Amino acid sequence: MWVAIGTMALLAALLGLALGYAALRFRVEGNPIAERIDQILPQTQCGQCGYPGCRPYAEAVAKGEAEINRCAPGGEPVVSALADLLGRDPMPLAEGAEKPKEVARIDEQECIGCTLCLQACPVDAIVGAAKSMHTVITAECTGCGLCVKPCPVECIHMDPVSEGLEHWRWPYPDGTPRDIAQPAVATA
Ligand code: SF4
Ligand code: SF4
Repeated sequence: MWVAIGTMALLAALLGLALGYAALRFRVEGNPIAERIDQILPQTQCGQCGYPGCRPYAEAVAKGEAEINRCAPGGEPVVSALADLLGRDPMPLAEGAEKPKEVARIDEQECIGCTLCLQACPVDAIVGAAKSMHTVITAECTGCGLCVKPCPVECIHMDPVSEGLEHWRWPYPDGTPRDIAQPAVATA
């Protein structure tokens, strides 16, 4: 009988070790749903959703703490993609989230080369060097406006973007219009 008890105890210990190893080996870092939501978001890190970047917003949506319609740069296509992913009904963009497209422009004559805007830009759309003129790479600018406030000489202006041919993009496969200067929405 002691042999049987001993064998059972040994088997239980080995099984426990195997389960422990599996839990460590196949552990998923972070929240997999938040990961898939984050892949859909446009990574502009602009904070227009009220969160300090795309990942914190993705985590909040995954926990059900935030609605899926707060990502202004992502617009309707991101709301639809998140609704698809989460099996929910799409909803219109949150109040105030829809705003006319803009890009930043630096008045290079006025720029003193302090680099504050360059540090503030979450998508590296500004180029320049200390004490030298800075300029915006329009094609990279998401229009988040985060560079305007830090400029000590107020030489950054947000210009409205005309929806002309130079900004026209092929619509998404489902026919929804693709926002200007926005990366394609990844279908998770
Ligand atoms: S240049 Fe300014 S408005 Fe454009 S993405 Fe950078 S911080 Fe935002
Ligand atoms: S913050 Fe203003 S002054 Fe400073 S580098 Fe940028 S544009 Fe030039």
